[in-house]
Amino acid sequence: MSNFSFNEFKKILKYYKKFLKPVFFDEVKKNTENFFIVRHDVEFSIERAFELAEIEKKELKIKSSFFFQITNNSYNPFSYENKKIIIGIKKMGHKIGLHFNYKGENSVVKIKKELSKQSKIFNQEFDNNYSFFSPHRPSKSKFLFKINQKNLNNTYEKKFFNDFREARKNKNKTIYLADSRHEWKYLHPLDLDLRIYKKVHLVFHPDAWSKKGYSKKDNYSLLKKEKALEFNKTLLTETDYL
Ligand SMILES: [Zn+2]
Repeated sequence: MSNFSFNEFKKILKYYKKFLKPVFFDEVKKNTENFFIVRHDVEFSIERAFELAEIEKKELKIKSSFFFQITNNSYNPFSYENKKIIIGIKKMGHKIGLHFNYKGENSVVKIKKELSKQSKIFNQEFDNNYSFFSPHRPSKSKFLFKINQKNLNNTYEKKFFNDFREARKNKNKTIYLADSRHEWKYLHPLDLDLRIYKKVHLVFHPDAWSKKGYSKKDNYSLLKKEKALEFNKTLLTETDYL
């Protein structure tokens, strides 16, 4: 079984489902003892997000949270085509929210203002009321881990995120595992003993996952091809020179 293949994805989630209850962020209360949250931060490909959403719905019977950027340079979530796909993900019963990409001035005031603006635009466009957002690359600014707004909660709140070593020592704390940059930096999710650890926040970047599963380099090559096809399709519908 290849790393980052759909089969591996299914194997991970089946393992978690066997021991823990899949929940959305807003279902985790102070006294919730047994849960896992599946979060998807979508950086490049809405189509790949859709594929994972379908696997979760049809094969795994799991509902999860998908976060989309509105300021990146790889996709436009508001295009007619992409909007349809995102609404399709929502209709499957998954939750959607803003993946907050901020490149402006590093001050709390500026970040808060931009966060309010972006989330308002996102929620308005998708008629959405999930009160969670996920910051993109929060390690770039310490504020991004902490910022919350009225009716808008950060997926890095203490309930959902702790230093890995601390959480490993204290099983009352939620363990956070992410596949950032095509690697499980802290621990592979299948290597966590779920008979002991009962609170887990799993982050998948759908862009990294494919049917066969590839290395980082080959995965990006395939992603580039997928994007080229998408652009070609757009050209075919928008021009008559081809
Ligand atoms: Zn991100």
